[in-house]
Amino acid sequence: SDFLASSDPIVAELINKELKRQRDHLELIASENFTSAAVLAAQGSVLTNKYAEGLPGKRYYGGCEFIDQIEQIAIDRIKQLFGAAHANVQPHSGAQANFAVFLTLLEPGDKIMGMDLSHGGHLTHGSPVNVSGKWFKVVHYGVDRETEQLDYDQVRELALRERPKLLICGYSAYPRVIDFEKFRSIADEIGAYLLADIAHIAGLVASGLHPNPLPYCDVVTTTTHKTLRGPRGGLIMTRDPELGKKLDKAVFPGTQGGPLEHVIAAKAVSFGEALKPEFKTYSAQVIENARALAAQLQNRGFKLVSNGTDNHLMLVDLRSIGLTGKKAEQFLSDVNVTTNKNTVPFDPESPFVTSGLRLGSPAMTTRGLGVAEFTEIGNIIADRLLNPDAEAVAEDCRRRVAALCDRFPLYAHLEISVPA
Ligand code: PLP
Repeated sequence: SDFLASSDPIVAELINKELKRQRDHLELIASENFTSAAVLAAQGSVLTNKYAEGLPGKRYYGGCEFIDQIEQIAIDRIKQLFGAAHANVQPHSGAQANFAVFLTLLEPGDKIMGMDLSHGGHLTHGSPVNVSGKWFKVVHYGVDRETEQLDYDQVRELALRERPKLLICGYSAYPRVIDFEKFRSIADEIGAYLLADIAHIAGLVASGLHPNPLPYCDVVTTTTHKTLRGPRGGLIMTRDPELGKKLDKAVFPGTQGGPLEHVIAAKAVSFGEALKPEFKTYSAQVIENARALAAQLQNRGFKLVSNGTDNHLMLVDLRSIGLTGKKAEQFLSDVNVTTNKNTVPFDPESPFVTSGLRLGSPAMTTRGLGVAEFTEIGNIIADRLLNPDAEAVAEDCRRRVAALCDRFPLYAHLEISVPA
């Protein structure tokens, strides 16, 4: 805004540069999206000024009459979207949501079981560098070496042997459908709690295009900023109101202080958007576009982990073309295509190098790209990665990226403001 440009030209200039970067690049990071202008407006509002420790109607601060209504709307909408009996929309992020679940269900020293980070799990599912790996005993399952998909018999066998108190499903880099019912039956056999962390697929679940974990899981956590297309944040849901009360206490005062009510307002707006029929159309297009990209990459000779995708993301296994994830990310970045390197299952390379590249369709689908354009993206990626040393090819890729970005404008209402 002009206010920002005149009062702090340095920060304003950097925000302008970031807006231009988002406009000029093909955003293929599977965990990113572009919120609506309405979500941006709610988040950049006066609600950031307000303390509101507690819950709607039960606050530790005065002056919460409007904040209460906003947070209640967010809660009601998310419950409706997922069919949850109870929801807490205060977690500042997905990691915070998971931390609150651990505080609710576990004691230090208890055993948890989630997917290995290098197979697509998340840091908060028991990585040694995360509190989940420091305070709990951890056993990890992975995907099957042959199919590169979950093998529920293997998961069951490990669970029966290790008997974790908490079983975690839901991932950061798994391109296939998750069978929550099977996880429930495994958890029941050993009397474990079952947590589904649907951070990546929440929008697809909300649209009815991926099975809903709520009927099967004790607790469901998610981020709000990926396929769900809300502001950066997290939330927790359960179908058990008594457990819900405990989860509320674990969020505040257990692990957080004052909720970010400006973010909660933005969450409410995005949940309202997700309840509209257009969002279902969007989610269906996300999946179609991912399939189109996957198919074109396979046509061009690339190998995909598990041979394809059911959801919004895919993992390219670069070993057959002799590139690392790190190099591929750099080569694509050089032609204004943003991706992230990612380990593939049983990756011989370190997490800083990796043999894989994770690609997702949510963000560019929001910009309006369809199957034809995602097929073209597949060709741009293939042309660049198969000819990494050809500057003429790189130049051609840059031109084609610019053409796509020009055809599908982003945040046309936002002006690049200049200092007064
Ligand atoms: N859980 C999963 C499965 C994720 O993929 C992510 C984010 O990448 C998170 C949790 C953490 O979310 P946040 O980055 O908001 O803490």
